[in-house]
Amino acid sequence: YAAKRRRGGVVGYDAALDGGDTNRLTLLSELRQGVERGELVVFYQPKVELATGAACGAEALVRWQHPERGLLGPAAFVPLAEESGLIDLVTAEVLEQALAQIAEWERIGYALPVSVNIPARSLADDSFPVTIVEALARHGVRPGLLTLEITESAVIGDTQLAGEVLQELRAYGVKISIDDFGTGYSSIAHLRDMPPHELKIDRSFVMRMSENSRDETIVRAVVDLAKNLHLRVVAEGVEDESAMRALRELGCHEAQGYHISRPLPAADLTAWLARDLAITAV
Ligand code: C2E
Ligand code: MG
Ligand code: MG
Ligand code: MG
Repeated sequence: YAAKRRRGGVVGYDAALDGGDTNRLTLLSELRQGVERGELVVFYQPKVELATGAACGAEALVRWQHPERGLLGPAAFVPLAEESGLIDLVTAEVLEQALAQIAEWERIGYALPVSVNIPARSLADDSFPVTIVEALARHGVRPGLLTLEITESAVIGDTQLAGEVLQELRAYGVKISIDDFGTGYSSIAHLRDMPPHELKIDRSFVMRMSENSRDETIVRAVVDLAKNLHLRVVAEGVEDESAMRALRELGCHEAQGYHISRPLPAADLTAWLARDLAITAV
């Protein structure tokens, strides 16, 4: 029945109910169990400073080591988790692992700032700053080593509360970044009402900027906007040397992308950092 509807060009409510819902429910209960069983794995993708090429941070990116389906990327379960509220459990688990990793890197001599993705809906919870501060304290991590990348997949309901929550986090010394800037619901008004430390330019603009002059113009405008507001600006999705060069010329501060490194398991990033330092030391 659903297939018939789909052939007719309409994929609507009926199609969503066809088996899809059972799959979603299965996936959700498996995810809840998976988190408890420690099946979530955090990969880390390094960021470099464009002016010097030095590693300046890493983004924590969740994966799910599913017992039957193998390693699943966030696209396979994060949107579903966000719709269902299970995302809070995922966020808490990623934060735990990331903070433990920051502490471990610091122990072996790397004071590496790590960014964790936070869905904007977490800012609707006025106990969120306390949760963060307690977690930092538990791991003995300085707040300045943690950046929260706020991703908006839906409109924030109470922007005033969200603003207060962000203000509280800033006051503790945690860094705030607006992720995927320029897409979805991430609005310029936030720069006035809830000023971040950093803007992250969405990869959809960066990936094609060397071939598409409109993308290049948009990247340039965001870099200028960020600099005029005295914010750090990071480009994600840097896939080749020409994008690197273009971003450097535009004065973008930091770059992240496959050209620098794919997201890696923590141990592999440690090795990558050691190599990076060995090169810069020569
Ligand atoms: P994001 O936060 O914008 O993360 C960047 C995504 O771009 C990552 O995909 C990364 O692997 C990918 N990427 C990095 N460099 C390149 C490149 O040069 N080319 C291309 N084509 N892609 C690149 P990933 O890991 O699949 O994550 C996708 C999205 O899932 C993230 O987008 C973020 O919105 C979400 N996500 C990941 N981890 C978490 C998490 O722990 N919590 C939440 N709430 N969301 C997460
Ligand atoms: Mg991100
Ligand atoms: Mg991003
Ligand atoms: Mg993105």
